[in-house]
Amino acid sequence: MMGALIDGHDVAMFDLDGVVYLGPEPVAGAVEGITALQARGVRTVYVTNNAARPAQTVADQLRSMGFTVQLDDLVTSAQAAAGLMRRELPAGAKVLVAGTSNLVDHMTEAGFEVVASASDRPDAIVQGYDPDMTWRRLDEAAIAVQNGARWYACNTDSTRPTERGLVPGAGVAVQAVQVTTRTTPTVTGKPFRPLMEEAVRRTAAKNPIFVGDRLDTDIAGACTIGIDSCLVFTGVHGKQDLIEAPADRRPTSIAWDVPGLLLPARATNADAHGVRCRDAYVSAPEGVATVRGDLGDREGQLDALWALAQLVWARPGLQYAAALGDLNAVH
Ligand SMILES: [Mg+2]
Repeated sequence: MMGALIDGHDVAMFDLDGVVYLGPEPVAGAVEGITALQARGVRTVYVTNNAARPAQTVADQLRSMGFTVQLDDLVTSAQAAAGLMRRELPAGAKVLVAGTSNLVDHMTEAGFEVVASASDRPDAIVQGYDPDMTWRRLDEAAIAVQNGARWYACNTDSTRPTERGLVPGAGVAVQAVQVTTRTTPTVTGKPFRPLMEEAVRRTAAKNPIFVGDRLDTDIAGACTIGIDSCLVFTGVHGKQDLIEAPADRRPTSIAWDVPGLLLPARATNADAHGVRCRDAYVSAPEGVATVRGDLGDREGQLDALWALAQLVWARPGLQYAAALGDLNAVH
C-alpha cells in the first residue's frame, strides 16, 4: 500500500483559479482538502500570477469561502517583481508602472520612485494586469523601453478566465509593447523562476509540491525549478493536454482535485509490452495503445490515464486516440 500523494512534502503550493476557486465559487472539495492538509502539518500557500489585486484582498476572499489563510500565505507576481527589482536596481530608482495601484504600492514600498511618463526617464518599467489599461500608458511603456529602461512584466498569460468566458490577459498588453519595441521583458510570474523561487524562499520548503490546472504555467513553473507537481482536472487542462505535454511541462503526479493529494500515490511499472498503474494496464501491440482496467471507477480512470501518459511519453509516435476515447467515454 502506497502512502498518500502528499506524504514527504512539507509545503503544498496552490494555483488559485481552476484549483482553489472558479470565479466567485470555491472548487468542490478544495476547502475540505486544504483543511485536511493543514491538519497533517503541511504548510499551504497560494501562488498567483495576478498582480492587480492586493494579497490582502485575495486572502479575505479565500477566508470568506471557508479557507484558513494568513496574509503571508499569498505569494503574488507583484511581490516577486518588487523583490527581484529590489535586488537588481539601485535604491530609489525611477520606475514607470503600467499596472494597478497595487503594483504602484509594491514599488513604493520597495523604495522606488514611481513616475508616470517616459519623459521622466525611468530606470525601469514594470507591467502588470490592469483592467483600466489605456493605449496612452502602453505608449509610455514602449517609449521608455526604447529609451533603454529595464523592463519587467508580472506575467505573460495571454488569456484570463471569467464567468462569461475568456478575456485578454496581461500578456496581451505585454505583447503590444514587445511587438513595438522588439524587446523581451524579464517575467516574474509562472512559469518563470522569480515567483516560484519566492514561494520556496518564503516557506523555506524542503520538498514542496505545486498543484495546478495549467501545464504551461503551473506545471512548467514547477519543472523550471525542479520541484514536484500535481496536475488537477478541475480547471483548464484535461487528459489529452496531459498526454500531449512536452517534456518540460509534465507533472510528477495527477489527481482529480485537491482532496486527491490525500489519496494513495500512483506508482507505475513498465515492462517490455506496456505500463501498469495499480489495476490499470496500458500496452501498445503494433503501436496502438490499448487500455485494460476498471474505467468505471474514478481513481481507476486516472490510473489508466497515468499509465497511458507514461507509455506515450516513453514512445513518441504511439497512437493513443482510441485509448483516450475509452478514458473519455466514462465520467
Ligand atoms: Mg489556474
